[in-house]
Amino acid sequence: AGAGSDDLLAGLNPQQLDAVTYRGQALLIVAGAGSGKTSVLTRRIALLLRRREAWPSQILAITFTNKAAAEMRERVERLVGDAARGMWISTFHSACVRILRREAEQFGFTKSFTIYDSGDSRALIKRLVKDHEADAFGFTPAAVQSRISKLKNELQDAESYARQANMSDPAERVFVEVFADYQRQLQKANAFDFDDLIGQTVYLFRAFPQIADVYRRRFRHILVDEYQDTNAAQYALIHELTRPVQGGAPEPYASNGMMIFEPDPSTGSGTAEGAEPGAALTVVGDSDQSIYAFRGADIRNISEFERDFPSAKVVLLEQNYRSTQNILSAANAVISNNFDRKDKKLWSDKGAGHAIVGFTGYSQHDEAQFVADEVEALRRAGMPYGEMAVFYRTNSQSRALEEIFIRSAVPYKIMGGTKFYERAEIKDALAYLVAVANPADEMAVRRILNKPRRGIGDVTETAIARFAEEHGISFRDALAHPTQLGLGPKLQAAIAQLDAVLREATDIMLPASGEIAPPTAVAEGLTLLLQKSGYMDALRASRDPQDEARLENLDELIAVTRDFARNSPEGTIVDFLAEVALVADSDDLDDESGVVSLMTMHTAKGLEFDAVFVTGVEEDLIPHRISANEPGGPQEERRLFYVGITRARKRLHISLAMTRAQFGEVSVAMPSRFLQEIPSELIDWRQSPGDVNSRGGTQSRALNARRPSTGSGTGSGSFGGSGSDRFAPRELPRRDGLKPLSTAMDKFPNRVTAKVRDNGDLELNAGDRIRHDDFGEGKVEAITGEGAKRIAHVRFDAAGQKKLLVKIAPIEKI
Ligand code: ATP
Ligand code: MG
Repeated sequence: AGAGSDDLLAGLNPQQLDAVTYRGQALLIVAGAGSGKTSVLTRRIALLLRRREAWPSQILAITFTNKAAAEMRERVERLVGDAARGMWISTFHSACVRILRREAEQFGFTKSFTIYDSGDSRALIKRLVKDHEADAFGFTPAAVQSRISKLKNELQDAESYARQANMSDPAERVFVEVFADYQRQLQKANAFDFDDLIGQTVYLFRAFPQIADVYRRRFRHILVDEYQDTNAAQYALIHELTRPVQGGAPEPYASNGMMIFEPDPSTGSGTAEGAEPGAALTVVGDSDQSIYAFRGADIRNISEFERDFPSAKVVLLEQNYRSTQNILSAANAVISNNFDRKDKKLWSDKGAGHAIVGFTGYSQHDEAQFVADEVEALRRAGMPYGEMAVFYRTNSQSRALEEIFIRSAVPYKIMGGTKFYERAEIKDALAYLVAVANPADEMAVRRILNKPRRGIGDVTETAIARFAEEHGISFRDALAHPTQLGLGPKLQAAIAQLDAVLREATDIMLPASGEIAPPTAVAEGLTLLLQKSGYMDALRASRDPQDEARLENLDELIAVTRDFARNSPEGTIVDFLAEVALVADSDDLDDESGVVSLMTMHTAKGLEFDAVFVTGVEEDLIPHRISANEPGGPQEERRLFYVGITRARKRLHISLAMTRAQFGEVSVAMPSRFLQEIPSELIDWRQSPGDVNSRGGTQSRALNARRPSTGSGTGSGSFGGSGSDRFAPRELPRRDGLKPLSTAMDKFPNRVTAKVRDNGDLELNAGDRIRHDDFGEGKVEAITGEGAKRIAHVRFDAAGQKKLLVKIAPIEKI
C-alpha cells in the first residue's frame, strides 16, 4: 500500500480490500444490499487520488441520483480533501448534459438547448397525436410516449424502427410518423428529452470519433454504481467511453442529426497498434435490486459484463454491514422466491435485533396513524426524525400519510416526484426563463402566451404561428411584430408588452456579447419576468387560497435562483435551467435532516435509515396491479420489495390496510403475497389482519386528543401548511386495546373476507340506523354497489359522513 493510505483501507474485509485496491482494466463487484458496494466505489476513488494514480479530472463516477452523487462527492472530499475538486461525480443524465453543452453545436443544436422533462414531452406528443390523428388508432399520448422512450433506450430512432416494423400496418405507420415528427419538433425547438440526453451523446461519440477521443483520453477511470439498472443506451455510452482511443480515424457514420443504432462493430478487442488503452472500468451492482426493467434496464448487463470484458475481475461481497439479522433474514427469505437468480445469502454480525413490527389498519388512515405513532415513539426513544423513512409503492399513497403527519405534527418531507418543479406556477415561471434562454423553444413561448390571462386564445396563437411560418422566423420572433398579425388593438398591446418584458429580461440575463452577466442575473431576470408580466399581480389579486400558496412557491423559486447565484457565481441562466431540469427523482429542494422522509420504494434505492416503514403491503399495490400482465413483472415487484426492506438498519415496520380508498372508491385490500414469504417468527404483529374487524370496545382515546396542527413544519408537503379544516374532524378509528402480539402467519387469510368481520348479506337500507365499533351511531343515507362491494353511505352522529363496505365493516343494525 502506498504511503498514507492506511486509513482508507482500515476496516475493510478482504474482498472489499481486494476490490478497492485492484488495478486492472475492468472490475465487477456483484453483491447483495448493504454489503458495501457504494462504499468500495468511494474508497477506490479516494485511493486513486491519494496515491496520485489519477487526477480528479480523470475520474468519472456515475450514480443513480443527484443526491447519491452529492453524497459520494462529500464522502470522497472527507477522505482526501480538496484533491477531490474537478471530479465528475454525477448521474448519467448530468454527465451527458455537460458533454452535450460543449459539443451540441457539432450536430445542429446550440449550447442553450432546453431539456424536456416527461411532462414537456407528453405535452408535445399530445399535440402530435392530435395532428396525425393517431388517436383514431387508439394511441394515447401516454402510450406513445412510453413506446418512444423504450425505443430510444434501445438506441432506436424512427427510421431504424420503421425498417423493422410492419409498415403495411396503418397503426404502425402512424406511430412512426408521430415518432419522426416528435424528433423533428425537438430538434426545431433546440431541445432534448431525457432519453435523448443519453442517446444523442452516444450518437455524438459514434458519429464524431475525434470528439469521443477527447473524452476517452480525459477519463481514465470510470466507475458506475447501481449498474444493474443501466439500460442499453447507458451501456453503449459506457462502452464508447471505455474503448481505446482511436486516434481520430473517422468512422463510417452519417451525421444526419439522428441517432446511429448500428451495432458497434469493434468492441475493443481489436485495438489498433499503438492505440492508447481505454479507461479502467469499475461497475457495482446487485441483480436482486434491478427495478427499472420497465424503463429498459437490463439485468443482462451484469451477466454479460464478463463476456464484454473478458479480462474483468469479479468480486463478490457477502457480509451485510447495514441491517440486523432479523431484517436480513426477512429479505433473504423474500428474494429467494425469485427463480432465475444466483442464490447468495447475506449475513450480518449485528445480532438478531428487534423483531419486524407488523400492523394491519382498518383503513389507510388507520395505517398512517400507526406509522405516525411509531415514529413518535422512536423519536421519544432518541431516534432523530431524519433517521426514519416511510416507503410506499405509488405516489398517491403519500396523501393519507401526509394528512396524518400534519395532524400529528410529525415533520416530514416528500422525496422524489419532484413535486415542487411539477407545479403549474413553477413550470410557468421556468417557461418564461426558457423563452429568454432558448427562444427557439416554441412550447415554452406558447405556454406563457396567455399566462397571466391576456385575452390571447387559440385564434391569436394560430395567427402568430402562421405569421412566423410565412416569414420564416421563429414563433418567439413573431411576437416582435404585433401590428402585422391582423389583430385588434387590445391583443396587439398585450403581445407588445410580453415581447418587451422578454427583451428586458434578456438584456439582464444574456447581455450583448462581451459583457458578462452578474451572478444575480437569473434572480433579477426571473423577478422582473414574474412582476412585469403581471403573473404575480394576477395571483395576488386572486382570492383563491391556492393562489396564495402559488405565490409562496414562486418566492421559493426566486430563493432557489439566489442560492444558485451564491453557489455558481459563473453560472448562466442556461446552467440554471439545466440544473433544475435534472433535479432527479430522489432529490429535493433542500436537504433537511431533521424530518421523516417519505418516498416511493423506487426512490429509496441505495439509501439507508435506522428505521423504515414499508406501507401498503397489499396485493395490487406491491406487487402492483399493472405488473401482473408484464413478463417478469411480479418478480420485479419482489425485487422492489426487497430494496424497500433492505434499507433498514435497526427497525423495520411492515403495514397494510384492510380497505383502501382510491379515486373516491373504497375497496377491500388483500395482504401482499410477499408478506407470506417472510417467516412468521420474524414478525411481531401489533395488529394482524385477523384482528382488524374484531376490535371491540369503546374508543378510549378521545377524539380531540390530537389537535389538528396548523402547518407542517416543512412546507414541502402538498398541503402547503395553510391551516385548512380539511383535517377536521378527526375521522380515524381507534387502535387502542391492541391484541396480544401473537397472531401468526398461519392464521393469515388468503381471502380477506374469510377472516374479517363477515356481515354476510346484512340487510341494510337507506334510513336504517347502525352502530359502528369506531364511529358510534349513525344513519344510513344511501346504499350503492353490489355484493362484496356494497357500500353504505352513513352520516354518523359524531364522526360525520363515511363510506363503509357493508360486508366487512364492524357495524350492526340498531
Ligand atoms: P445497496 O445495495 O443498498 O446500495 P451497498 O452495497 O452499496 O448497498 P453501502 O451503502 O456501501 O452498501 O454500505 C452499507 C453500510 O455498510 C454503510 O453504512 C457503510 O458505511 C457500511 N459498511 C460498508 N462496508 C463496511 C465495513 N467494512 N465495515 C463497517 N461498515 C461498513
Ligand atoms: Mg449502494
